[in-house]
Amino acid sequence: MTKINIIGQSREALNAQFVELGLPSFRVQQVWNWLYHHGVRNFDAMTNIAAPGREILSNFYTIERPHVAQAQASTDGTQKWLLRFSDNQEAETVHIPEVDRGTLCISSQVGCTLTCSFCHTGTQMLVRNLTSAEIVGQVMVARDVFNEWPTPIGNRHISNVVLMGMGEPLYNYENVATAIKILTDEKGINLSKRKITLSTSGVVPMIEQCGRDLGVSLAISLHAVTDELRNELVPLNRKYPIKELLEACRQYPNLSNARRITFEYVMLKGVNDSVAEARKLVQLIKGIPAKINLIPFNPWPGSPYECSTPQAISAFAEVVYRAGYASPVRTPRGRDILAACGQLKSESMRQRKSKCSSEAA
Ligand code: SAH
Ligand code: SF4
Repeated sequence: MTKINIIGQSREALNAQFVELGLPSFRVQQVWNWLYHHGVRNFDAMTNIAAPGREILSNFYTIERPHVAQAQASTDGTQKWLLRFSDNQEAETVHIPEVDRGTLCISSQVGCTLTCSFCHTGTQMLVRNLTSAEIVGQVMVARDVFNEWPTPIGNRHISNVVLMGMGEPLYNYENVATAIKILTDEKGINLSKRKITLSTSGVVPMIEQCGRDLGVSLAISLHAVTDELRNELVPLNRKYPIKELLEACRQYPNLSNARRITFEYVMLKGVNDSVAEARKLVQLIKGIPAKINLIPFNPWPGSPYECSTPQAISAFAEVVYRAGYASPVRTPRGRDILAACGQLKSESMRQRKSKCSSEAA
């Protein structure tokens, strides 16, 4: 019988499986505590479970994390890990240390089916969805690196998680939802829901459910104020245009000034960065508790755009700020190791590709 990975199984699934295995139900809580509070990597470490119980567990399950195929550190402290999964597929995870927090940017898919024209990941075809184990595993690997077990009460290297790595999380909803429920479980990794931000390019039919079931913070990749331009930058807009997207945002459960939606807006020189567009933006989102995150475009090899000038970015930010919205400009982090927003792509694909092109040359 092939063993299954116990990481990434929901509490409900474990309850059902333990009944099948003849294990008492209180074992679920014990095992959960060892896995997600203490971060143990084998069943023998679970010392409050007698040997026969541990044997049943190890005959049925493995405790498997993604393998770190490559680790890179930026001069600014950002770290990027290329993680390899059991079928040799790969995805990237990035850690961004800041003064008051540490943010882990995780991936939800290998590649992406969407083809946003400014995004490096979008040039890589979707290979597959990540499983809940692989999504939770990214956080566990990062915690291993920082030796952040057991779950600390106070300061953490990983205090925030953003689903802003590779992939469109709302196109892998079930696995993302299971993973988020594990990450926020108070008896384990215990991340606050509010400190998890899910970024979507605008999968309108899933937005309400995401707010209702998961209660995480929502970020919307808006990037343009007309359908004409957004169709080009974010092709999903042809399916779900701006009006429908903003209507879904207005309906997002539990919005308030303390729980605002983040609109992400990538600054592309001469494309979407005029003051007139800034004015249109604040009109569009009127009435939605929001903040606007201006993201300087991060270039990647062969990218068709340039980043807006610092003057254009501050003029844009000024309009947004005067309209009463926080408008932080996202400081690019880890650009030197291609770890910044939109630069992720499986390193192996890049190497294989460049190998092909050098072979072809
Ligand atoms: N697929 C989701 C989440 C991953 S992308 C989404 O699109 O929202 C995370 C953020 O990085 C998005 O706002 C995306 O638009 C932005 N991004 C993509 N490519 C970028 C680039 N080259 N420079 C700056 N930001 C980029
Ligand atoms: Fe996919 Fe997001 Fe990149 Fe668009 S921006 S291609 S949705 S990862």
